[in-house]
Amino acid sequence: MTTLARPKPDSATVAAVDVARDALLQEVDGADVGEHLGHVVEGERVVTHHFACERAGYRGWRWSVTVARAPRQKSVTVDEVVLVPGEDAIVAPEWVPYRERIQPGDLSPGDLLPVADEDPRLVPTYAYGDDPLDADDRAQVRQVAKELGLGRVRTLSLEGRDQAAERWYDSDHGPSAPIAQAAPDLCSTCGFLVRLSGPLSEMFGVCANGDANDDGRVVSFDHGCGAHSEVRLAKKHEPVPLPEPVVDTLTEDLEPL
Ligand code: SF4
Repeated sequence: MTTLARPKPDSATVAAVDVARDALLQEVDGADVGEHLGHVVEGERVVTHHFACERAGYRGWRWSVTVARAPRQKSVTVDEVVLVPGEDAIVAPEWVPYRERIQPGDLSPGDLLPVADEDPRLVPTYAYGDDPLDADDRAQVRQVAKELGLGRVRTLSLEGRDQAAERWYDSDHGPSAPIAQAAPDLCSTCGFLVRLSGPLSEMFGVCANGDANDDGRVVSFDHGCGAHSEVRLAKKHEPVPLPEPVVDTLTEDLEPL
């Protein structure tokens, strides 16, 4: 590995604090410029001087003035004057692309969230052949496939299926949810569980109990809740039946006045 030698500080550029400050004052108001904070050697005969920024709203920012000296020259020239954030400056958070900002549950009616062509959660249901096809040709193949009833253009890949299974199992509809931990029995034995088809049906079903929290949701077989179809109250918790009504045939009812 090659190690680059650190450039030696050039005394003329290091000492050029006043040159840097004068250049800075030509660009900004004097009230915005604070004390000299130090310098950084950028390269051979190139040094950046830093000055505190006193402008309102720019706490932690500093003015950065880069000066340089040409070989065999005595005078120092100014390369650039910029305002840069320091360590405790308030700066905007890093920009996050729209696709990564959208979280589950963020979509509103009318919002679109296109899936990337190469999304690993999906695989093509049928192939287009070996020849590279342009977009029009692929659209034609899709149209023919639709008419032949070949089904959807893409289906869930193994990776997409595994991700879904993991997500569902670790969610509030899996075995670790507090309601499942306290449940008297598992969904796998509940009469309200609707079976799925396909590989995910080996672990999951859909709850169809309108009284349960999970109604209409995918639940794992080892999930459960207190609305299980076979739950019965203990005898002592059952409501006490009321006695039969008694008709009083011996006393007369008082007539209303
Ligand atoms: S009612 Fe409860 S136990 Fe039955 S399927 Fe739904 S969540 Fe599972």
